[in-house]
Amino acid sequence: MSTTTQHHRIVVAGSGPGGLSIAARVAAQGLEVALIEPSSRHVYQPFWTLAGAGIVDHELSVRPMADMIPSAVKWLKTSVTGFQPELNQLQTEDGQTLSYDFLVVALGLQIDWHKIPGLPERLGQQGVCSIYDFSGSEQTWELIRNFKGGHAIFTFPPPPIKCAGAPQKILYLAEEYFRKANVRDKTRVSYFCATPTIFSVKKYADALIRQCVKPRDIATHFNMRLKSVDAENRQALFENSESGEEQRIDYDLLHVVPPMSAPDVIENSSLANAEGWVDVDKATLRHKHFDNVFAIGDCAGLPTSKTAAAIRAQSPVLAANLLAAVNGQAPVATYDGYTACPLVTGYGKAILAEFDYELQPQETFPFDQSKESLLLYLLKRFVLPQLYWRALIKGRKWPWSKVGT
Ligand SMILES: Cc1cc2nc3c(=O)[nH]c(=O)nc-3n(C[C@H](O)[C@H](O)[C@H](O)COP(=O)(O)OP(=O)(O)OC[C@H]3O[C@@H](n4cnc5c(N)ncnc54)[C@H](O)[C@@H]3O)c2cc1C
Repeated sequence: MSTTTQHHRIVVAGSGPGGLSIAARVAAQGLEVALIEPSSRHVYQPFWTLAGAGIVDHELSVRPMADMIPSAVKWLKTSVTGFQPELNQLQTEDGQTLSYDFLVVALGLQIDWHKIPGLPERLGQQGVCSIYDFSGSEQTWELIRNFKGGHAIFTFPPPPIKCAGAPQKILYLAEEYFRKANVRDKTRVSYFCATPTIFSVKKYADALIRQCVKPRDIATHFNMRLKSVDAENRQALFENSESGEEQRIDYDLLHVVPPMSAPDVIENSSLANAEGWVDVDKATLRHKHFDNVFAIGDCAGLPTSKTAAAIRAQSPVLAANLLAAVNGQAPVATYDGYTACPLVTGYGKAILAEFDYELQPQETFPFDQSKESLLLYLLKRFVLPQLYWRALIKGRKWPWSKVGT
């Protein structure tokens, strides 16, 4: 049985970029903050795409969590197992009940490998791989660089997922690598996508089809959802979401992006909306029913693409509104749904999609960001990681008004 042992002014649940940036901003104002996080390691997930293509070592994505958490923040190294926002309380894995004045939920999302029968036990083997995992990114590079030709399939699941651009980035990088390795002429490259278009914003969708898909002979199959994997026979079963028709396709390499959902601990609580995400107001990031609860990042029920770049824009808004609430004031800042995706289209090329809730481009630079460029690739490869480690997770001001991670 658990007992109430601790009360905190502000509790932040989860220490990804969302939780860390808020904890740092609020602690800098002299407020008492406890951060609940079970993991000893913080991961910079955007590097997993580059690791999957051999551009960086996957170990570069990891840093000790202890080095990331500001010294003024109290780290509780455990997991949240239940939320009772009606009582301003939550439970943790180590049997504690914590009470709080204000709560920020930043638990990220959960990856549902088990929802694709045949997938979890075959990852990294028999041609099946995924960059949506730390070790999976290394296994993906192993399979890509040892690929000798055949049918290479890349999938995209029903959204929402985190970084909806990553499934395409690894597709384009692999396709270019096959050319470098002289196996492209004996390789069919296919993209099976559960959505009706390649990207949600028309400007970038058109640019990707024109610059990448057509000239590079990539076969696209829309509204096709991966249902199961038969790794023994190297076959993938897809379902057409419009006709319900199923198709069994042979593959030699299968890059899978798994389905994703809200963490069970949120979905099973009164914090959740109908889909399981934290039910926050899309402008203020404050909970629709519990005024002392906020959410940031992948776990928040916001109608925008789930990225670290979105967190970069959400963080100052949430911090301002949380501080206003602490002072008994109404929310003072609004979030417009800004999100971004540096879509790497090859070794040395990228476009940079930036847009808002209305799916309108919100570009930072004074040139057309939908055109492939080396500059945007260098931004993604070298500049954004530094800004992530030095500014985003430390809750510091960003050098540009928009561009994300
Ligand atoms: C392959 C890949 C490529 C990507 N590329 C990009 C990119 O190029 N640009 C970009 O902007 N974004 C990219 N992203 C997305 C980005 O990494 C995520 O959107 C971002 O990490 C979300 O941050 P978060 O803080 O919401 O969640 P997370 O980073 O997932 O952090 C959640 C934290 O909560 C902790 N936690 C979970 N459950 C509990 C619990 N019960 N109790 C306490 N703590 C808990 C976890 O241990 C974790 O530390 C990519 C992601 C992937 C996987």
